[in-house]
Amino acid sequence: MKGQLNLTFKNGIVSGSAVEGATLSNAATWLLEAINNPDIKVNLDTVDGLYYYDSNTKNYVYFEGDAFRGSFTYNEKVTATNIVSPSVIEAIDNLTKSNKGTTMLHAALEAYIGGKYFPNSMFTVGKDGTFGKNDLPYVISHDWATCLDPTNMRDLPSTYRFKSRPIYENFIMKSDTPYIFDKSTSIILHQFETFKYR
Ligand SMILES: [Zn+2]
Repeated sequence: MKGQLNLTFKNGIVSGSAVEGATLSNAATWLLEAINNPDIKVNLDTVDGLYYYDSNTKNYVYFEGDAFRGSFTYNEKVTATNIVSPSVIEAIDNLTKSNKGTTMLHAALEAYIGGKYFPNSMFTVGKDGTFGKNDLPYVISHDWATCLDPTNMRDLPSTYRFKSRPIYENFIMKSDTPYIFDKSTSIILHQFETFKYR
């Protein structure tokens, strides 16, 4: 994105414009469309650590950096949401040797594509967290967003694993001090700080 877009990120909302004369990549072109489309609002909800609180089920839900949450329509406008954990995303970008911000950009594009082609998917989400038959709204939005940024976006090596180490008090999770390790060598690759929960 560097040299292509002037971006600002404030309160979960990305805004920006193209750098004059720059040739835009597919990802930059789509991000600019997302920013300028008045009918679809992309919301990146920020949380800390490996869990977000689901107010419907009143449970903490485990996720690894970026969670697709579908979209809803109100007054013919779509709001599409992904939940992002900046410290986890930063660790993933480092471990995959991707440009800083790659996974955040992926989350924004994934939410936007979901809002554009699967509006109202929030109402198809099941108890298992997937979005209807074959989880299509998520699967297609994720794959599409990945294809838009082929030089940067890559998955963690298949042997890398997250290890959550939650501390409970009266069956309520109070904190977690997770790390990322390589399953084949048991070497710890990234140690996170302690994340506190209510
Ligand atoms: Zn994704």
